[in-house]
Amino acid sequence: MKRIPEPFRIKMVEPIRMTDENDRRQALEEAGYNPFMLRSEDVYIDLLTDSGTGAMSDKQWAGLMLGDESYAGSRNYFNLCDAVKHFFDYNLTIPAHQGRGAEQILFPCLIDRMRNVRGGSEAVFLSNFHFDTTAGHIEMSGGKAVNLLTERAFHTTTYDDWKGNFDIEKLAAAIEQHGSTNIAAIITTVTCNSSGGQPVSMENMRQVYELAQQNDIPVVIDSARYCENAYFIKQREPGYADKPILEIIREMYRYGDILTMSAKKDPMVNIGGLCCIRDHEELFQAVRTRCVPMEGFVTYGGMAGRDMEALARGLYEAADEDFLHYRISQVKYLGERLREGGVPIQYPTGGHAVFVDAKKILPHIPPEQFPAHALCNELYIESGVRAVEIGSLLLGRDPETGIQKPTPLELMRLTIPRRVYTNDHMDYVADALIEVCKRASTIKGLEFEYEPPVLRHFTARLKPVSS
Ligand SMILES: *Cc1c(COP(=O)(O)O)cnc(C)c1O
Repeated sequence: MKRIPEPFRIKMVEPIRMTDENDRRQALEEAGYNPFMLRSEDVYIDLLTDSGTGAMSDKQWAGLMLGDESYAGSRNYFNLCDAVKHFFDYNLTIPAHQGRGAEQILFPCLIDRMRNVRGGSEAVFLSNFHFDTTAGHIEMSGGKAVNLLTERAFHTTTYDDWKGNFDIEKLAAAIEQHGSTNIAAIITTVTCNSSGGQPVSMENMRQVYELAQQNDIPVVIDSARYCENAYFIKQREPGYADKPILEIIREMYRYGDILTMSAKKDPMVNIGGLCCIRDHEELFQAVRTRCVPMEGFVTYGGMAGRDMEALARGLYEAADEDFLHYRISQVKYLGERLREGGVPIQYPTGGHAVFVDAKKILPHIPPEQFPAHALCNELYIESGVRAVEIGSLLLGRDPETGIQKPTPLELMRLTIPRRVYTNDHMDYVADALIEVCKRASTIKGLEFEYEPPVLRHFTARLKPVSS
């Protein structure tokens, strides 16, 4: 497959260490066989996440020097508002320290509105798929998070253009079932992180919004990877091939009323977030009121002035078409290399990561011995590449029965940071994983030495099973 060369040149480098296998074995043992517990210095290529790990440009770094650190009314806040208006055509902007900051100030206000203005009581949120902190904030606010993703997303090896779409019939049925006044909001997540960075079509977004309007339900667009989604629409959806990305983004945001954003993803800042509202002054005031005690004063919301400037500039760079072409192609290239080498993956690849089907590679390891996690460890020992498990270990136990929750998928995610690694690095990753797969039958499962009671995957200590 053709490699798309990087649309940037490098003017500052950060050395990374090429450790040897013995060092890595020792580091992994000390980390309790859990890559989350490794020191980053012991990692050669870090594909744990694309969140906050992107490389800022010279223009973004230059913007840091223009930080206006006034407590109130910083000029960088107004630059950020202008960029939001330009891309999304939303009038009201509240900064937040990251995506979950935006969620924690918005969701209780949506629930209040549902109770006090629309007369509901249940507080249901409907989404193609709630991101984990999103579901967490909904539940902590007393709401209920329901996922209505298309079934097609679960067939990993069968191609489909829109594995991030809502199942519209299920959405209509859920509105009917709960009653529209009990739905606090519909959340359209672009791209759909949990199904593998898979895109949502414009048609689907439009249908969701029409249904929401008919039922007087607000739509929130969870916007971590909105540019990557716009690029897929341009590539795949009839009628969009000749439209500029800016126009596609603006149309996407006509099918929503509010946006929350983790700016650590597409806009390539190391920390930052947004909550923006198209024109609903009353909701804006309510969210601002929560912002002050939770995130900070309304014109900084947990961000330094300089970081708001970097974000304002990042919004422009994220939507650059040459960049997006390279970005999506790099992820696709890694996916194609793996497929050619016989490694099963979620197909087609999405925007920000390649999801490897560990269940198919390690059928001899049962779910309670964490096959995808075992694959991550083996890849690290082989190459110093750090990946992350998205499977049984992450999912955890049923809090009531204590039994491991069943998962249809045991995945290893290779998440690609933006503008950080070259296509040569992708070749290195592909070669290493193909090599690991050759000795798949010798790879052992894992058992706990220490299992934390909640969010166990972050700090668990494990060891290879003895048999
Ligand atoms: C990362 C992410 C969030 C949460 O944002 P943070 O910046 O990590 O707090 C919310 N939704 C989606 C889809 C995300 O990918």
